[in-house]
Amino acid sequence: MRLTRYFLPVLKETPAEAQIVSHRLMLRAGMIKQSSAGIYSWLPLGYKVLKNIETIVHEEQQRAGHIPLLMPTLQSADLWRESGRYDDYGEEMLRITDRHGRDMLYGPTNEELVTDIFRSHVASYKDLPLTLYHIQWKFRDERRPRFGVMRGREFYMKDGYNFDLTKEDALHAYNRHLVSYLRTYERMGLQAIPMRADGGPIGGDYTHEFLVLAETGESEVFYDSAVTDLSFGDRAIDYDDVAQCQGVLQEFTTKYARTDETHDEALFNEVPEDRRRVARGIEVGQIFYFGTKYSDAMGATVQGPDGKPTPVHMGSHGIGVSRLMGAIIEASHDDKGIIWPEGVTPFHAGIVNLKQGDAEADAACDNLYAQLTAMGLEPLYDDRNERAGGKFATMDLIGLPWRITVGPRGLKNGVVELTSRKTGESEELAPDAALAKIAAIYGKT
Ligand code: ATP
Ligand code: MG
Repeated sequence: MRLTRYFLPVLKETPAEAQIVSHRLMLRAGMIKQSSAGIYSWLPLGYKVLKNIETIVHEEQQRAGHIPLLMPTLQSADLWRESGRYDDYGEEMLRITDRHGRDMLYGPTNEELVTDIFRSHVASYKDLPLTLYHIQWKFRDERRPRFGVMRGREFYMKDGYNFDLTKEDALHAYNRHLVSYLRTYERMGLQAIPMRADGGPIGGDYTHEFLVLAETGESEVFYDSAVTDLSFGDRAIDYDDVAQCQGVLQEFTTKYARTDETHDEALFNEVPEDRRRVARGIEVGQIFYFGTKYSDAMGATVQGPDGKPTPVHMGSHGIGVSRLMGAIIEASHDDKGIIWPEGVTPFHAGIVNLKQGDAEADAACDNLYAQLTAMGLEPLYDDRNERAGGKFATMDLIGLPWRITVGPRGLKNGVVELTSRKTGESEELAPDAALAKIAAIYGKT
C-alpha cells in the first residue's frame, strides 16, 4: 500500500478522553473511531489488525479440531426463556422488540442458540465429540464502557461450545481449549497466564481465565512468579491425545495463579515469599466446563450407547478478539508508539523514501515494494512529500516491526537502512540483503 493512496487518519494531539496507553495509541494511529459510548468503527489500520488476530484464532481453533460456523447477532428471547437467562441476565442485555412485537435481543453470548442448533440436528452419541465455534459481534450494555476496545459495549468475540457424551470427554475438550489458547496468544506475541477463576453460580473447579499482565488491567491477580517462566513454544501437540493435553493443563495450572475472585491467602502463603506476586491483568479469554446445565434446561440429549436419552456435557470457551488488540498494545509499545509483534502487524514492513521525487530513490523504493509484494508480504510505502522526521514519527507511531529507509546518499554506496522497531537498531545493507532478511523473518525463504 502506498501511503498517499491509503486512509490513515493519524492524530497529532493526544486525545484527552483516553485514559490508558492502548486507547490513546489506537486513536492516534487512526485505528478506531468511537461512534457512541463503547461502540467503535474500525478504520482501515485497526480493521487489518483485527482480521489478523481473527485469522490466528481461526487457525488455532481448527488445528484443535473445532468447527467454525456463524450464528446471528440478533436472537429470539424465547430461547433465553427456556434456559431461564432472559430474566437473569439483567441490564447488560440489549433488548429489542421487532415490528410484530416479538422480543429479541442482541446476543451477549450464544449458549442457547448453539444448544438449539445441536438439539435440532444431533441425535446420537456417535456424532460426538463435537465442538462448534464462531467469531461474531457481541453486545453487552456495560455500565462503564471504557478504555477503548478493552471494555466496549459492542465487541468481537470468539465463542466455542463443546458437546460430549461424558464429563471425562468434556474435560478433554476443556484441556484442548486450554492448549489451543496458549498457542493462540503466543502467536500474537503475548504471554497470557491461565488463572483459576470463579465458576459463578455453577461453581466447580473447571474454569480458567487467561490474563495478560498489565498495570492497566481491570483484574487483580495473585501468582507464583514461576508461572511467567512457562511457555508452550513450538512443541508438537496431538489434540486427540488425552494424556498429552491433560499434561499441558497440569504444567500450566499447578502453580498458584488466581484472580481475586478465587484468591486464597493461606494457599498463596505457601508460595516462597520471593516468588509471590500481586499484580493486575487483562482478561483475554476464559474456558468453562458447565456440565449439563443447558442440555438439561433445553432438552439437548443424544441417544447413548445404552439406547437411552442422555443429556450432553457442555462447556463454553471465549476469546476477546477485539480486546486483544488493546492488550497487545498495552504489552508492546514505547513512548513513540505501538510495536506490533510480527504475528499480527498490519503491514510487514514500512518503506520510507527520504527524497520523494529523486529518480533513483523512487526507483529503489518501487523495486523494494514490488519484491516484497511478490514474496506475499504487504509493505506500507510512505511516498508522501514530507520531511524524514515526520515519516519516521508516523512509522514509529503505527508500529510496523521493520522499516527500510531509502535515500540518495545510501544508494550511492549501494545500501538501504533496515531498522527494527523493537530495538531501534539499524543496519546498512544492500537492498537484496534487506529483502532476504525480511523474507527470513516472515518465513518466506
Ligand atoms: P469481564 O469480566 O471482563 O466483564 P467476562 O468474564 O464477562 O468479561 P466472558 O463472558 O468470559 O467475559 O467473555 C469472553 C471474553 O470476551 C473475555 O475473556 C474478554 O476477553 C472478552 N470480553 C468480555 N466483555 C468484553 C467487553 N465488554 N469488551 C471487550 N471484550 C470483552
Ligand atoms: Mg470471563
